Amino acid sequence: MQANPIWPVEKRRPPLERDLKVDVLVIGGGMAGVSCARSLMRAGREVALIERDELGGPATGASSGVLYYGSGTNYLEAVKLFGQQNADSLWLETARVIQEIKDTARDCKIDCGIRSCGSIMVAQNDGQLADVEEEHAGLQKLGLPTRLLSPDALKTSYPLVEFAGGIAFDAVGQVHPARLASAMAEHEGIPVYEKTPSEGWEESADKVMVKTPKARIECTNLVVATNLEPFLGLETHFDTEGSVILASAPTPRVKEAFPEEKILWTMEEKYDIVYPRGDRLILELYQLGDEDEKLRRYFPGIEFVTDQIWGENWSKPRDWIPIAGMVSKRTAVAKGMGDQGIIMSWLSGKKMPGILEGKSDWFTRLTSPQRFFPGGVMPQ
Ligand SMILES: Cc1cc2nc3c(=O)[nH]c(=O)nc-3n(C[C@H](O)[C@H](O)[C@H](O)COP(=O)(O)OP(=O)(O)OC[C@H]3O[C@@H](n4cnc5c(N)ncnc54)[C@H](O)[C@@H]3O)c2cc1C
Repeated sequence: MQANPIWPVEKRRPPLERDLKVDVLVIGGGMAGVSCARSLMRAGREVALIERDELGGPATGASSGVLYYGSGTNYLEAVKLFGQQNADSLWLETARVIQEIKDTARDCKIDCGIRSCGSIMVAQNDGQLADVEEEHAGLQKLGLPTRLLSPDALKTSYPLVEFAGGIAFDAVGQVHPARLASAMAEHEGIPVYEKTPSEGWEESADKVMVKTPKARIECTNLVVATNLEPFLGLETHFDTEGSVILASAPTPRVKEAFPEEKILWTMEEKYDIVYPRGDRLILELYQLGDEDEKLRRYFPGIEFVTDQIWGENWSKPRDWIPIAGMVSKRTAVAKGMGDQGIIMSWLSGKKMPGILEGKSDWFTRLTSPQRFFPGGVMPQ
């Protein structure tokens, strides 16, 4: 089942029908799994990927694909939560990842709707404006390309609504993540088996045996990138959240709302996003309930005829940092990518070859599942 009815993945792959022996098996064909498989292949490992349903998985398929810095919160909040050095490293590294994704899509001529549109975080009142100014000052100090926008300047990008001010993030981009994941798998030649759920595995001293409905897979390492279950003893450290997207029917009035085609998002923890995609207007919310009021608020004077609604869940660790690391001698996870899951999946995938080799750096120390178990003993 494709999560996103408007930008689906067309390429399909056959299921696994006979036993397989491979160096690394990745379970899960969302952005996290594909990113891990891609990096592992590039590091010279022999890889296969199995996906329960279709590549470009539930959350990745539903995603708005906004490519923004960091991990699920504003920079100043991240400094408080993760410490100055980790927050700085995360923001600078994710700035590089945004560029890498844009370059990958361009160099590989991948048809994934990539656009370097830029985005704006808006302050809806004077209280939020003070936070916006502080956030901007922090990002400037870090050397990231941001601009403070007055209410008048904001109107150039979004004339429909008066905001108290905002920050323009000119480097932010957007992609159809499922299409990117599918095209990357194709470009890299990753062997992918769809309609092939893992039914569990057994790890022994020298290998892992994974069971699927029609075949068994033997591998030296296993990477579990299933977003939700199995949680492998980590379930008390996750929340399951979700988002819903409302897409309007095609309308000639898109330019009136978005003359510069920017993405706008509000600065609350559970933010709203509005943006144009082709000839459609889009509203993304954390949940349904007040969508009619929000459509009136964000699109006054424009009739928003809802054509499609879709949504999905993702898992988000309670400390807002994804989980990428070993859970046993031969098994790693790449999970809990949260609401900035496209960037975090890419980055976790990049680190996976090193993780399997036992290498460590600031990111793997931050994302290691061991952080939840101070004694270092994972529940099995
Ligand atoms: C509506 C919406 C909007 C979003 N907007 C953004 C955004 O703008 N920017 C951003 O960065 N992030 C956004 N996100 C979050 C982001 O999309 C997710 O965090 C990210 O896609 C998670 O990727 P994943 O690979 O971990 O999970 P998924 O994409 O869910 O992939 C996991 C895969 O594992 C498979 N699987 C599960 N169990 C098994 C099994 N037993 N055997 C085999 N396969 C299995 C599933 O079928 C699935 O395909 C959004 C999410 C949603 C839902």
